[in-house]
Order: sequence, then C-alpha cells, then structure tokens
Amino acid sequence: MSRVVVIGAGPMGLAAAHRAVNLGHEVDLVEADSVPGGMAAHFDFGGLSIERFYHFVCKSDAPTFALMDELGIGDRMRWKATSMGYYMKGKVHPWGDPISLLTFPHLSPIAKLRTGLQMFFTTKRRDFASIEALTARRWLEGGSGKEVYDKMWKRLMELKFYELSDDISASWIATRVKRIGNSRRSIFQEELGFIDGGSQTLVDALVSDFAAKGGRLHLSSPAEKVETAEGRVTGVTAGGLFFPADAVISTVPTPLISKLVPDMPSDWLQKYNAIRNIGVVCLLFKLKKSVTKNFWVNIVDPEIEIPGIIEFSNLRPVKDTIVYVPYYMPTTQPKWGWADQQFIDEAFGYIRRINPAIEPGDLMEATVGRLRHAQPVCQPNFREKLPPIETAISGLLIADTCFYYPEDRGVAESIRYGRLMAETVNPR
Ligand SMILES: Cc1cc2nc3c(=O)[nH]c(=O)nc-3n(C[C@H](O)[C@H](O)[C@H](O)COP(=O)(O)OP(=O)(O)OC[C@H]3O[C@@H](n4cnc5c(N)ncnc54)[C@H](O)[C@@H]3O)c2cc1C
Repeated sequence: MSRVVVIGAGPMGLAAAHRAVNLGHEVDLVEADSVPGGMAAHFDFGGLSIERFYHFVCKSDAPTFALMDELGIGDRMRWKATSMGYYMKGKVHPWGDPISLLTFPHLSPIAKLRTGLQMFFTTKRRDFASIEALTARRWLEGGSGKEVYDKMWKRLMELKFYELSDDISASWIATRVKRIGNSRRSIFQEELGFIDGGSQTLVDALVSDFAAKGGRLHLSSPAEKVETAEGRVTGVTAGGLFFPADAVISTVPTPLISKLVPDMPSDWLQKYNAIRNIGVVCLLFKLKKSVTKNFWVNIVDPEIEIPGIIEFSNLRPVKDTIVYVPYYMPTTQPKWGWADQQFIDEAFGYIRRINPAIEPGDLMEATVGRLRHAQPVCQPNFREKLPPIETAISGLLIADTCFYYPEDRGVAESIRYGRLMAETVNPR
C-alpha cells in the first residue's frame, strides 16, 4: 500500500489519517500545533477542559455519528433542548419557533408571515442550485422582505463580514438555516447536541485508534514544503524532517497553499489565493451568573459591535456559566489589532448591558483565542471558484473547510471530506 503524509490534525486531517491507516496505508500525520484537534481543540480553562471555539452538534451531522460509532464512542452523544434569543431595543426576545415569531414585537404581520414561510421551506429544500447565483441579501430580501433583512440580518452580516457582507452566497446562508432549522425535537423546540467531555472525546478517540493501528502523529511539526519531482509528490518537509510519501493529503487553510506547494502551477495557485478567509477573536468568559436562558442570543443594537453571544453552559452542563463572544472580521480591520484586554473589557460591558444584574464581581475568568483563517468567505457561484481536490501534482490532494460548500465549515463535513480524500488515494 502507499506511504501517505497528511498535513494538519484538525477533524479533516485526523479523519483522513484514520481512514488511510484503516485502508492499510502507512501514514504520517504532521501538525503545526502542540495539540491535535485544529479549530475543535480543547484547552485548560482554569481546570475545565473546553473547546477554544464553541462547538455544538446538529441532528444532520451524520458523518460525526458514524465515526463515533466506528470508534466505539457512539454512546457519548448528548442532546439538549436549547433556545435562541434576539436582543433588540434593550430586551432579549425569544426567537426560533412559530410562537416566538408571532409574538415578536418589532416586525409587521406580513414580515412575520414571509419569514416563517421562507425559513420553513428552506428546511425542506433538497438543494439550493436555483439560488446559487444570488447573494444572501437578495435571497433574504426576496423571500422575507427588505424590512426583515434590514431589521434582523443586516447588522449580523455586517458585524461578521464587514466590507464583504453584500457578497455572501445565498446557498451558503440557506444551508446554514437548513442545518440549524432541522435540529429540532418538534417544530416548537430546537434541540442541539454536544459530545460528553466535549470535542476532545472524539479527538482523543481518533488519535488513539490511529496510533493503535500503526499511524504516526507528529505534533509541533509544521509542514514547510510539499516536495515533488517530475510532476508528482515525493514527500513533505515538516519540522525540519523529511517524510517520504507516495500521496500527500493537505487539510490546511487554502491561503497557505502557495507557500507550502511552490511547485504548483501558477493558474492553480491563483485559485487557492483567490479564496478569502476572515479571522476570529473568540472570547471565553467564566461567570458566576447566567446571562440569559438561551444557548445563543443574536444582537441587533447600533451601540453593540458584536453579532451575538453563545452561553455554552446552557448546552453542555458545566459548573459555572460559560459564555463565548466571537468577534469575526477580515484581518484587515483595524480592530483585529486590539489587545486582548480591550476585547474583554468591551465584550463584558456588552454582557452587562444584556443582563444588568451581572456585576463586575461576577467575572471569574476571561481568555481570548485568535484564528486568522477562521471562516472562508463564499460568494455567489463559489463552487466554480474551487479547484478539484485531486491537484495538478500527481498524488497531492488538497481541501479545506470551503471545499464542502455550500455547507458551512463544521466538524461533520470535515470528517466526511477527510475520509473521502483518504479513499481517493491510490494503492502504490
Ligand atoms: C468560532 C468557531 C466556532 C465553530 N463552531 C462550530 C460548531 O458549533 N460546530 C461545528 O461542527 N463546527 C464548528 N466550527 C468549525 C469546525 O471547528 C471546523 O469546521 C473544523 O474544525 C475544521 O476542521 P479541519 O480539520 O478541516 O480544519 P482545522 O480544524 O482548521 O485544522 C487544520 C489544521 O492544520 C494545522 N496546520 C495549519 N498549518 C499547518 C502546517 N503548515 N503544517 C501542519 N499543520 C498545519 C492547524 O494547526 C490545524 O490543526 C467552529 C469554528 C470556529 C472557528
């Protein structure tokens, strides 16, 4: 069988390496970080092992469930009734079910009807090819109406994508609406999942099964160059060592490809370089009091510069209140250069505005995680912009989280793609 080098030990790289070793290949998995898991990795937050970036599971995440079953940890999935709120005009309003929509005070009756219909039919649609050429804005204005876009969506989009917010694909947004809209116990009750012990449970199980089957994981080993000769891969230089390979699977963000694979033909490199990503500065608070009863609260308020907060302890039960505050933005934004403490002070001020009963003494701990390539920016007709995963260099496969467009980045889809890439490797 082949010698395979997988680059990146996030969910996609772990799934690829695990599948490749199961198929009988000899596998080296190289990871730049000192821990495996990528965006789903845990860290120690004052004695609590938790994801640096919040992670929930939806009912449609079938590749995750299948892999957990295969690893013998299928019984570690947990489901919880959750809710969403919308903070608008100084108050948190319930959102996300028919009754909340009917009683929402800031939309006209016709806007409510159109929103309800658009969201309902989106959860039932099989595919979104017919809206592929539309922007999210045009699709939402056409379905729910301009009033709804302006009041409910515009600020959320602007606070995530900034200058790019008017060029986001409708199918990408619709796929997100469908994934979350279908994660329900009934039409009246949202239900989200988490893995007992967090994403680390899955990462640990993958790493240990991979190692037990002879796979080699090399942490703190950033891949520096994919080596080639006569148009095919010969190996990877990582952490100063050379790993020979008949096939290489890269799962790192595509903006890194031109440095990693300088031998790639320039028309291919142009395609990778054209894929934009935004970054995230993700804050994590440990508090003595709950902020709201909701898992997520969307925020539309001209004086609050975040699109929402995620009260994670309303999903996964942990001792204290755990709240994530993600600041997504293009890394060209001046705010990207803010110091951690500036973000913490601003976000804690917003939390106190949402729930004025929270006092300065209720803040137990806060930390900040940053990621430069956190979210690919998918424009209309994005699929046409994607190069194939089998590249111009024989034996080299490349994908990252935007390759499963129109699905948004997610653990389940990264697992599906990682396995698919491993299955594409030809035996020597
Ligand atoms: C704030 C936030 C919230 C999220 N919430 C959810 C959620 O609720 N549910 C969900 O399913 N998904 C969620 N996701 C997305 C999910 O984490 C990703 O889709 C998934 O982790 C992607 O896995 P991946 O392996 O494709 O990429 P990554 O996790 O990015 O893995 C890539 C790996 O490559 C490594 N790497 C980079 N350069 C090199 C190099 N030169 N050499 C070697 N290694 C390298 C990186 O260190 C990383 O480990 C969230 C992400 C973020 C940022």
